[in-house]
Amino acid sequence: MGQFAVIGLGRFGAATSLELMRLGHSVLGLDGDSRAVDLVAEQLTRAAIADVTDRNALAELGLDEYDVVLVAIGEELQASLVCTVHLKSLGVKNLWVKASSRAHHLILNKLGVSRIIHPEEEMGIRIAQVLSYPMVTDYIALGNGDFVVEIEASDHLAGHTLGDALTTDPPGQIQALLVKRQGKHTIHPPEQFVLQPKDTLILFGPLQQLKMAAPKLR
Ligand code: ATP
Repeated sequence: MGQFAVIGLGRFGAATSLELMRLGHSVLGLDGDSRAVDLVAEQLTRAAIADVTDRNALAELGLDEYDVVLVAIGEELQASLVCTVHLKSLGVKNLWVKASSRAHHLILNKLGVSRIIHPEEEMGIRIAQVLSYPMVTDYIALGNGDFVVEIEASDHLAGHTLGDALTTDPPGQIQALLVKRQGKHTIHPPEQFVLQPKDTLILFGPLQQLKMAAPKLR
């Protein structure tokens, strides 16, 4: 279980906090607006109203002990930057900050934060990729062109074996890691595994090979 602090409980910060809780982590949420805190307080491990540009308020919270501190204040540039400077000076090592403009990104980069997030752009790219391959319901880029993708088997694959569905050239380039069927998981299914409608496949392979296999999977 990780320990996360989310600063700024707008739509982005609140959604991230709630998903972290759902994934079994501990989350401290902070916001200067009591309405934003009230909306999620009961669902988080801890939530507090605080002006995060106030160094003393941040110092009391022991934020350097957290695995990651996420600053989810996009629009109020000054608040985001002042808070980031304080968190760095308080010894927060793993600091992720949402940026809302190029200038914001540039300054955060100079401040040496661990990761700068552009939610709109990152989501836009993700949506375009999923739109382009509609059977892909989710994916993780592993770097070096390797991906793990989640695919819902189309009806026409029913009755075919995984081996048929995943033919590659050279063979064996795509590996099926898991098949989910009605809540049951088959880990490392064999090539002879026969697919049924609504099966969900988790596949691993290089993007090139996944693209080549896409027409069959569609
Ligand atoms: P989102 O797009 O995520 O909904 P937003 O654009 O509506 O965010 P932001 O300006 O990015 O709003 O701020 C996100 C949250 O950060 C808001 O709930 C706001 O109250 C909070 N916030 C802004 N400044 C401070 C501050 N100095 N101290 C504490 N919280 C702050």
